[in-house]
Amino acid sequence: MIDLRSDTITKPCNKMLDAMLKAKVGDDVYGEDPTVKQLENLVADYFGMDKAMFFPSGTMANQTAIKLHTNPGDQVITHDYSHVYNYEGGGASFNSGVSFKLLKGEKGIFSSEQLLDAINPKEFYHAPLSKLVSLENTTNKGGGSCWNVNDFDKINKVCNKNNLGLHMDGARIWNSLIVKNDDPKLYGKFFDTMSVCLSKGLGCPIGSVLVGSEEFLNNALRIRKILGGAMRQVGYLAAAGLYAIENNIERLKEDHRRAKELANHFSNKEFVDNINDVETNIIIIDLVNSSKKKKLIEYFTKQKVFFDWHSMGPKKIRLVTHLNYIENNHKNLLEIVDNCMV
Ligand SMILES: *Cc1c(COP(=O)(O)O)cnc(C)c1O
Repeated sequence: MIDLRSDTITKPCNKMLDAMLKAKVGDDVYGEDPTVKQLENLVADYFGMDKAMFFPSGTMANQTAIKLHTNPGDQVITHDYSHVYNYEGGGASFNSGVSFKLLKGEKGIFSSEQLLDAINPKEFYHAPLSKLVSLENTTNKGGGSCWNVNDFDKINKVCNKNNLGLHMDGARIWNSLIVKNDDPKLYGKFFDTMSVCLSKGLGCPIGSVLVGSEEFLNNALRIRKILGGAMRQVGYLAAAGLYAIENNIERLKEDHRRAKELANHFSNKEFVDNINDVETNIIIIDLVNSSKKKKLIEYFTKQKVFFDWHSMGPKKIRLVTHLNYIENNHKNLLEIVDNCMV
């Protein structure tokens, strides 16, 4: 079986499990888990930020960030493709009572000019108060695209001038860092808060971390408690994160290479209208028409190959390479793709 539905489907290797078993733990609700502390300090330092906090999911970390930045009635400016808007169950309205203003832009990326135009003038009290900008790196629905640090700088300046918070949904930040070779500490200069995920490319079973400035993170403890995310001997999970940061970042290059090769093998197929320019581990294929999808599902399912057939829209499919998709899986799949005559 080959499962490329998502990079979340990975299972921990024995060494990671071993690190988890050996973790020193305590009750993290009392702030007494040394392994959680170690992970939080490491991640804060890694990104050049003041503080970090461990979360059970990326969604909860993002939702906490939105709550920290906004009051009910405020508006969040983000891309039309963004996870916080599309894939968090409407949580921003439920948890924070905010609305979104959605920006367009290639591959899930927008410009500082677009942002400037989108800000509601403060004195125009008929419109919601623009309060937070949230961007995604890499972009999920945008096909794993990476932002340029220059754009962060420009967007950060617009935010500062207009009193807007700046949050990054960095679920796949590690993939971007590998491709762009950016110094992660730079990010601390531009963002007030960032959520980073341990359970995608890095292969942990659970976990995200919210990093940010002291000003914002000091209140995060209360919000996480309210959302039900205060956990007890959670050092067992933080230990997986420590192992992953140490061992699983560099190897993302392999995921990126395999994704590019897969995209190449799909590119001359009759059923393909367009494929995103693959930068990281996500391949989004636009089909010539939605009726091809059924036949493709049949063909690949018969070969025990699974893609994300539905979440990106009726004419799109998504493939995501990951830690458990190894070289012989890859060789097999390339052959299966080459033989596909749908
Ligand atoms: C996966 C993902 C998240 C968070 O997902 P969880 O399943 O809640 O950990 C957030 N943003 C993006 C872009 C994602 O891909």
